[in-house]
Amino acid sequence: MGRAAALGLAGLILLSLLLFPQDSPWVETRQGTLPLVLSAPHGGGEKPASMKDRTRGILKRDSGTREVLFGLAEAIELRTGRRPFLVASNLHRVKLDPNRDVEEAAQGDREAALAWAAYHGALEEAGRAAKALGGGRALILDIHGHGHEENWTELGHAVSAEILAKPDEELEDVGWIRGPTSLGAFFEHADLRAVPSPSIPHPDGKPYFTGGYITRRHRGDGLRSIQLELPSSLRKTENLPWSVPALADAVTPFLAEHFGIPPISLHPSPLPEEGPLAVFSNSFDRHVEVFGVQILATPGLDHGKLVHAAHVLAEWLDNDENGIVDEPVVVEILREGGAFLVMPARERDMRRLERHFETWDESGWRMGLDLYGDETLPEGAPHARGEDGKRVPGRFDASLEEVLHLVSHGWERGFSDTFGFERGSKLCDAMDLARGGRFDRIPRRYPKDAWYTYDDRTCDYECQAAEYFYWALTTLLGGQDFPGRAEDIGHEWRPTTAEALLETDPAVYELLSDLEFALPRILPDGHYRDG
Ligand SMILES: [Zn+2]
Repeated sequence: MGRAAALGLAGLILLSLLLFPQDSPWVETRQGTLPLVLSAPHGGGEKPASMKDRTRGILKRDSGTREVLFGLAEAIELRTGRRPFLVASNLHRVKLDPNRDVEEAAQGDREAALAWAAYHGALEEAGRAAKALGGGRALILDIHGHGHEENWTELGHAVSAEILAKPDEELEDVGWIRGPTSLGAFFEHADLRAVPSPSIPHPDGKPYFTGGYITRRHRGDGLRSIQLELPSSLRKTENLPWSVPALADAVTPFLAEHFGIPPISLHPSPLPEEGPLAVFSNSFDRHVEVFGVQILATPGLDHGKLVHAAHVLAEWLDNDENGIVDEPVVVEILREGGAFLVMPARERDMRRLERHFETWDESGWRMGLDLYGDETLPEGAPHARGEDGKRVPGRFDASLEEVLHLVSHGWERGFSDTFGFERGSKLCDAMDLARGGRFDRIPRRYPKDAWYTYDDRTCDYECQAAEYFYWALTTLLGGQDFPGRAEDIGHEWRPTTAEALLETDPAVYELLSDLEFALPRILPDGHYRDG
């Protein structure tokens, strides 16, 4: 009997469904906001009795890859404030293998074939939407797990091991495959072994997956696809707390390098009536989210001041303005602690907000700070410049200080031995020198040669440390260096230039310029990513 005759009515229905795929309960998808699609076809565990078991091919699941997919999505969102598109199969591989053509994938089961069609339909749709966000270009990472002996990730570029063994000159696309900006190179930077990569140029006869059906089918016309075959060490449940951030540290800068990360939106939006932010809606009318940190504005606050504070916050968190936060640990602490900045127009408006503090705290907003409209000065010092391009005297833009105070809680808690606000941290050791002694309370008089002499009696040791961090870091970045400033702040803080800081306070200078930490290196100017 010929194929056409064997197709029959059921076959025709199946064919039409394959051509016009529907949603499937077995395919999980999530919309994204980045030119990146993550796919995990082999991580599912569902074995519905209604589906026939597959009998040919590989039937073992890639354990842990679903967990890696969702964890990686979260870790990338933490770093960029944006989400990758996701496509994952819930089905165990004994029921469906989306990484094969439909015949081998479903082996004659109708429901499985529909899930297969839905999987590839979802990948196509996600690829299209991701390309729209990447100016016509996007990346698909198809996540798998290998059981090979080598503890490395096999990066499948749809290029065979034989071709990879060729010298660089004979390899097409070498920069993409193992050059200094290849995914393998970014794996190396994240302390992950990968093949191919600059240090492991090819598998050298060892077992290696070049990239399967998904990698080969979903590419071209602006779409790049790479298969990630992870070793079991990166997929084990107990290792995910370090393996997922490491993978995100490899993938995110690679994405930024080749596809770009669209800037996060710093436009204020109305406060939602539902969800975690609803608790603020009776006092504030707008908010801006900056890498998961909220800024809330009362109805009286000037729009431009809110936007300025948002830009300053973005600059304190992503100081090199590449779209990736400088230190994910800091942002994670701020997000998990419920960090927020409240912005009323004037200080006296705070009194009306105070009665809500407890409610906010009980709702999980535990790390609040205030900044007022009348002290937020986008055109103030140290931003303002004269006709000669030099800084001019003026009132200091307090957003630089208050926003840094909020951000510094992430540094203080994330790196407490170094930047902690409690006695014994390196920061506090330096502060004790700067104050001319270890003072738990404000001394009646600071020693004559002290250069940090803040005398507000309500400011305890921790508060003193927070202020010291602000003074030292902004001085290092040149933020206190403008005419008239030394006279204004001299009763509290002496050095006003980076050079003076090095001379006066070498301990804090060394601490804050230590390249081991991704501390801010440039003073925010209120224009994040040219905004
Ligand atoms: Zn696989």
